[in-house]
Amino acid sequence: MTDTPLMPIPGNIDPLPVAREVTPRDDGRIDVLGLSRPRIAALFETAGLDAKQAKLRAKQVFHWLYHRGVTDFAAMTDIGKAMRPWLTERFVVSRPDVVEAQHSQDGTRKWLLRTADGHEFEMVFIPDADRGTLCVSSQVGCTLNCTFCHTGTMRLVRNLTPGEIVGQVMLARDALGEWPKGRMDFDFEDDDSDPEADNRGHYSADGRLLTNIVMMGMGEPLYNFDNVRDALKLVMDPEGLSLSRRRITLSTSGVVPMMERCGREIGVGLAVSLHAVTKDVRDEIVPINRKYGIEELLSACAAYKGASNSRRITFEYVMLKDKNDSDEDAHELVRLIREYALPAKVNLIPFNPWPGAAYECSTPERIARFSDIIFKAGISAPVRTPRGRDIDAACGQLKTAAEKKSRAQLDREAAES
Ligand code: SAH
Ligand code: SF4
Repeated sequence: MTDTPLMPIPGNIDPLPVAREVTPRDDGRIDVLGLSRPRIAALFETAGLDAKQAKLRAKQVFHWLYHRGVTDFAAMTDIGKAMRPWLTERFVVSRPDVVEAQHSQDGTRKWLLRTADGHEFEMVFIPDADRGTLCVSSQVGCTLNCTFCHTGTMRLVRNLTPGEIVGQVMLARDALGEWPKGRMDFDFEDDDSDPEADNRGHYSADGRLLTNIVMMGMGEPLYNFDNVRDALKLVMDPEGLSLSRRRITLSTSGVVPMMERCGREIGVGLAVSLHAVTKDVRDEIVPINRKYGIEELLSACAAYKGASNSRRITFEYVMLKDKNDSDEDAHELVRLIREYALPAKVNLIPFNPWPGAAYECSTPERIARFSDIIFKAGISAPVRTPRGRDIDAACGQLKTAAEKKSRAQLDREAAES
């Protein structure tokens, strides 16, 4: 179904309130990955089960999906033998197709993935000594054209569905071999008063490779708010993937009108792509600034529900030589953080180059000096070590091969005409 209409989302507009729920498939079956339990139950009912049966089957299927990583209804052994083929005929539990998987010398892994209707996007896994972080995409391409970001040069855009977003986490767990094996005949009701509850059935994040999720892949997550929220709800749901909201961070370029809802309805950690402290420079490098300026953005940060000294807002700051990296810029950054009384930390990101980029990375000395000024003001400002640069998996380098190819194709066509 490569002719599925793309969503018309021109740049610098407010998010679309309604986004597609499930990507249609050629075989007509409905993909239940990414749907809530009541939604699955409703689909089962529409397909012919009575309400009670539908609810029970939805609960069972949901458990197999998110606690066991099972994609085949035939393997769902507590569902009646006759029922399983009935489900298989009508429904499917998908994963994004893997087009290519790459391994960096530093252990970073990148997957080029494809939706059921043929659109390509990427996800990245970054292992560290004490954690493993999955960098998840929210859109195919991005409508915002930050001038230093490779994804921002992609034209092709559609929002990913909740299934395609949570599917990245499922696929990573498949690849890392992180689904529990063995019996599943225990009660998994959530019980906050029981400190052992998280360990029941080995379903906690402890001891796993994949411990953290960052919405920092391709796309602007707050321009796909509903789908990102629904996907993250499944990731946090104690009966879903059961990952703590403290281990999830959403990065936004500054979609101010959606930030309040992000805090209230999702409640994950917030990272903000600030990158500049003056209107002129931010207007140029993060063009959404022309719509929502620095003051508005920082006010929204100050009002962000869930931010506190123990859960600071991360300000991302890409280091661009002679553009945003002066001592004055560092002092102004400190002043702004103080003016808005923000519980903040700053993440300095050395610019990751890509072919045709108009910028250079600041020198290591400049970055060290910039960091020092902020640290001396009492604000943490570590320099992020670039990961996976050799496989184009570092921040801002994600851009799919399909798009690269189509550009090459365009060049050829231009040369021929
Ligand atoms: N669209 C969201 C999330 C994805 S980008 C956002 O903009 O916040 C994740 C981070 O990488 C952002 O802070 C982004 O500005 C930064 N980034 C983009 N291109 C980069 C590059 N070439 N080098 C370093 N960081 C980059
Ligand atoms: Fe989009 Fe973020 Fe890249 Fe800007 S930095 S173009 S918002 S992905």
